[in-house]
Amino acid sequence: MNFSQVIAIDGPSGSGKSTIARLVAQKVSAIYVDTGAMFRALGYFCHQELGSLSATDQVINILDRVKIEYPGGDQRLILINGEDLTQTIRQHHVSALASEISLIPAVREFLLTFQHTLVDDHLCVMEGRDIGTVVFPHSLCKIFLTASAEVRAQRRYNQLEAKGELKGVNLKQVLQDMEERDHRDSHRVEAPLRRAEDAKLIDSENMSIEQVSDMVVEYYRQRVKETSR
Ligand code: C5P
Repeated sequence: MNFSQVIAIDGPSGSGKSTIARLVAQKVSAIYVDTGAMFRALGYFCHQELGSLSATDQVINILDRVKIEYPGGDQRLILINGEDLTQTIRQHHVSALASEISLIPAVREFLLTFQHTLVDDHLCVMEGRDIGTVVFPHSLCKIFLTASAEVRAQRRYNQLEAKGELKGVNLKQVLQDMEERDHRDSHRVEAPLRRAEDAKLIDSENMSIEQVSDMVVEYYRQRVKETSR
């Protein structure tokens, strides 16, 4: 495992992490890893099994018999115990399940171990909430992406609409759910969402996807030069 081979991209929901991280990975020929998909899959799976995530001890018991697979590639596949959850986890209600299960320290520990196994000597772009602070605190290049809540909610709404996943949810509801989730993610005790001190802050509000991804690639190249001196 080579921590310096990681480009860590963190930020709140709708800040453009997934789109940017995928594009950056293409541009620098890196592996792309979406850690949010893992919390979504685990939240969905445990909720299916238990009907609720409130009994923390029962959730922890399930971890012993969970096999999570993230084969990578363009399809962004995620499987639990052989079941392909790639599409299922993109439903709006799964966001809240992911956020709820992410509060449990044993779940974070379980996924941290798994996330470490995904990185070898190959360059990797990993996106999430705590990659630069907790998962790979020594990563070569750290980015913290942000934008106003309104812009982020509109992006999330457009994504759900494009996938036919709105299911009666309106923009106001998306904004409210997103703000609740961001609040929970930022105020949890374990690995809260926050910018690492040495992360470059990028406000994507008035920038195109191309501009943001170019800025990340440029910063990554600058970091490579700085560290190889
Ligand atoms: O990025 P995405 O919206 O798919 O993440 C879903 C949820 O998973 C987040 O709201 C957060 O609660 C949790 N998460 C996390 N740590 C990560 C990635 C996601 O706690 N590294």
